[in-house]
Amino acid sequence: MIAQSRKNPLSQNSQQSSPFDFATRAIRSGQDFDPSTGSVIPPIYQTSTFVQDGIGGFRGGYEYARGGNPTRTSLETLIADLEGGRHGYSFASGLAAEDVLLRAVLSPGDHVVMSNDVYGGTHRLVDRVFAPWGVSVDTVEMSDLDAVRAAITPATRVLWVETPSNPLMKITDIAALVELGHAAGVLVVVDNTFASPYLQNPLSLGADVVVHSTTKYLGGHSDVLGGALVLNDEELAEKVGFLQFAVGPVSGPMDAWLTVRGIKTLAVRMERHSANAQALAEALVGHPALERVYYPGLPEHPGHELAARQMRGFGGMLSVSLAGGGAVARRFAESMEVFQLAESLGGVESLVCYPSEMTHASVRGTALEVPENVVRLSVGIESSADQIADVLSALDRL
Ligand code: PLP
Repeated sequence: MIAQSRKNPLSQNSQQSSPFDFATRAIRSGQDFDPSTGSVIPPIYQTSTFVQDGIGGFRGGYEYARGGNPTRTSLETLIADLEGGRHGYSFASGLAAEDVLLRAVLSPGDHVVMSNDVYGGTHRLVDRVFAPWGVSVDTVEMSDLDAVRAAITPATRVLWVETPSNPLMKITDIAALVELGHAAGVLVVVDNTFASPYLQNPLSLGADVVVHSTTKYLGGHSDVLGGALVLNDEELAEKVGFLQFAVGPVSGPMDAWLTVRGIKTLAVRMERHSANAQALAEALVGHPALERVYYPGLPEHPGHELAARQMRGFGGMLSVSLAGGGAVARRFAESMEVFQLAESLGGVESLVCYPSEMTHASVRGTALEVPENVVRLSVGIESSADQIADVLSALDRL
């Protein structure tokens, strides 16, 4: 009886064509209740190891928590399901996930083509950690497919794209990039952190790997660090699984559990993030203190039509450039109340960031340098009226 009811019909990835919608799967997929007590919420398996019934007699298939832990499994099952992939892996941070993926696919002499507007730490990882091993990286405007084609060399192994990008909210055509990349035998990796699986599923557009900083929208409450990879290819899955175990940058049980809890409300949060960001972007367009508002939900955004096709909403991130330049932008970033000045994004609370000295300080002086007059806003799920009043009054005070 118990064994029967433990079979959670929602614990399957969408490759197996689940009959349930996203919002239902976000709450139940991978979340088997505890058979010993019936607790609706699976326990946090805060353990480093598992008893064996004689050597090699593993009760639940778990041996040592670096290799696997049920709480981590529930998160990995859930994320794989929501991204529509066969294999999900969770890590201690987004960069730990990226590091494992790059170790799995790159060898000395290999080349990476990266979009020219990505999270600064992603570029730093390839440029400063992998470069000394003999890996090279070139950055390119990914919305220009001819430029991408020209950047691919016989040594290129990976096309790395973020869409929407951080912080300039550029939109890249994933399907077109996949066609181009696969024709050249190159792996296409999409960092889906800004969109979250609620708004965009790169694997369904042909991408090979989806990367997440689960620290952001998936966790959703700015209280946990994490990263994830989702992919379909069996050979790559084996390499990633091996490295996750052999290198060990895994998410701990408490972090995995918090991330699962955050994901349960992803659907409602993303709706509200998107609605609030749209309202704020519309309130800011044409403001005399602003040179430009970067938000794909605005019809004048160059990627608007593509985003409307490729995404199911425009998300909660927007950036602005200040007409008065860098010093004014800095002052603006420091002068809000509802928007707190902090690194990171994707939580329920609104945050403001000054990328050139914060998230993207590591890429100053490179092709990825963010203009000094750009300020990034992570639009939370507070009252939209409070958010708009906060930003407008900060602009008035400049
Ligand atoms: N990808 C994007 C788009 C990010 O914004 C970040 C962090 O800000 C990362 C990856 C890295 O993730 P983490 O900070 O969890 O290591």
